[in-house]
Amino acid sequence: MKNRILSPLASAMLAILFLLHIQPAMASDPAPTSNALDKGADKVVDKAKVTVSPAPSSDDDMSKALTAKISKGSGDIVIRTSDLPAGGSASVAVPAKPKLGNKGSAKPAEKEVHAHHWSYFDGPEGPENWGNLSKDNLACLKGKSQSPININIDRAVKAQLNPIEFIYRPSPLSIIDNGHTIMVNYGEGSNLMVDGRQYRLVQFHFHKPSEEAINGERTDMVAHLVHQHHDGSLAVVAVLMSTTKPASSRKYWWGDDSIKENAFINTLWNNVPLVKGKTDTPGVMIDVNQILPADKSYFTYMGSLTTPPCSESVLWLVLKTPIYVSDDQVKNFDRMYQMNARPLQPKGDRLVKETK
Ligand SMILES: [Zn+2]
Repeated sequence: MKNRILSPLASAMLAILFLLHIQPAMASDPAPTSNALDKGADKVVDKAKVTVSPAPSSDDDMSKALTAKISKGSGDIVIRTSDLPAGGSASVAVPAKPKLGNKGSAKPAEKEVHAHHWSYFDGPEGPENWGNLSKDNLACLKGKSQSPININIDRAVKAQLNPIEFIYRPSPLSIIDNGHTIMVNYGEGSNLMVDGRQYRLVQFHFHKPSEEAINGERTDMVAHLVHQHHDGSLAVVAVLMSTTKPASSRKYWWGDDSIKENAFINTLWNNVPLVKGKTDTPGVMIDVNQILPADKSYFTYMGSLTTPPCSESVLWLVLKTPIYVSDDQVKNFDRMYQMNARPLQPKGDRLVKETK
């Protein structure tokens, strides 16, 4: 009898011991990822994390393409910034590294990101000094086509531009407070077509107030939808967000006032993680189509990432029509990020086009 009782007991004990032993090991797998994401970790780091899980061959292809591009020595590769997508961030860090041989694992990228803290407020880490924080950020200081800019409607070239095609589909929500903004990493399979080129939606995030100004005015907030072509180049769609109705003088570009509160934004704010730097996947599906205004006419110009390293050659697509958000929604973001917009940059002789 004793034996019969003991042996199930013993095996239960063994099972428990086994679990106790295994569990920490299992937990430690995700751990490096969340460490990587702590504090100021940018989208780049996050990207590295995203790459780990589903990364199919397309990311590999992207990495190869990027590495090839990098080896050619063109210094203007637009990767590795906080505005960066989640597809090739690992390779993003590669340009800064002397050795290109290894695949550009996530670790150097993390170090890179953590090495240079930056902020939106005046001081040694503020926007005026981003370019001095690291030689990788030189474009922040010396770049000639930096973002954001003020868009003067009267000076924009009215053109017959092809409509942007948004081919978005729902994705499981994956959301992080990365220390600079609230960012959502978007699942595979959502794309943008512009001028015959396809860009994949990688992530989107928010700024308060809007970084871009129209006729000198910023809106309450903006969402930046960051897309990446398979050659590594970026296209960012800016969706302005406003709580107020347009002044009559601005009416001609300010159209859609039917939406009072965006349920999509509520879903995001409700699911912001309690811990900075930690990605949450609360098991909610989202559809990014819901953040787009009905009227998708736009301004377009060539600019840069608006966070270090301020890499250039980013195609900007600023939708003319804001979406409406409630005061409470803006206040809630304000409690997380009161101000996370880079100062306006000189437009120089850049062309801004506008859909007719
Ligand atoms: Zn942005």
